[in-house]
Amino acid sequence: MSEGKLIVVTGPSGVGKGTLLQKLLDRYPDRILFSISATTRSPRAGEEHGREYFFWSRAEFEQKRDAGAFLEWAEYAGNLYGTPRQAIVEAIALGQIVLLEIELEGARQVAQSFPSAKRIFIAPPSMEVLESRLRQRSTDSDEQIIKRLHHAELEVAAANEFDVTIVNDNLEIAMQQLEKAMFHD
Ligand code: ADP
Ligand code: 5GP
Repeated sequence: MSEGKLIVVTGPSGVGKGTLLQKLLDRYPDRILFSISATTRSPRAGEEHGREYFFWSRAEFEQKRDAGAFLEWAEYAGNLYGTPRQAIVEAIALGQIVLLEIELEGARQVAQSFPSAKRIFIAPPSMEVLESRLRQRSTDSDEQIIKRLHHAELEVAAANEFDVTIVNDNLEIAMQQLEKAMFHD
């Protein structure tokens, strides 16, 4: 059996990563494993423990982190986020494509610890469009939106560190580019 691969998708909050990746999972449910991260942030309406994230307390997260359970982890907008290592290593050994949707610091850690990973950056058409998507989504407070836009500036400035950049303007075009980057490049 051939070895699978690790794909990292990064981009500012509100750019459309979740939307794109959900479509990808709907199209290829058997080929792709979407890694479920752990976070110390509170669940949003509709989010479930073990589906969108493992919602752990800070103490629980730190204990697992210190025991080496994460492939990467980072603090983002006041909360900790991390990728549990075990499920990923197992799935790659079984030949699956494993997708991580993580922020910039985590993507940099993966570049060091897993250099064969393909790293894809999703960029907004503009900062104005990004802000309007964050507001339209109505999931974050004003304070969170401001923090997220601040991070976005730093993240977009680092796009050139990635193997591929996809601008999520028209959703279908962005989907085609993502599929090409994942399966054909
Ligand atoms: P992220 O996962 O990157 O934080 P989301 O997938 O939650 O972003 O998308 C943020 C908002 O933008 C959602 O309301 C989503 O429906 C919308 N959106 C995503 N992609 C597009 C697009 N190409 N054009 C217009 N709106 C989009
Ligand atoms: P949100 O709170 O909007 O779900 O996620 C905030 C940010 O954390 C997003 O940029 C998302 O990609 C990132 N993120 C989610 N899970 C992880 C993870 O396991 N590790 C890292 N480093 N970032 C993550």
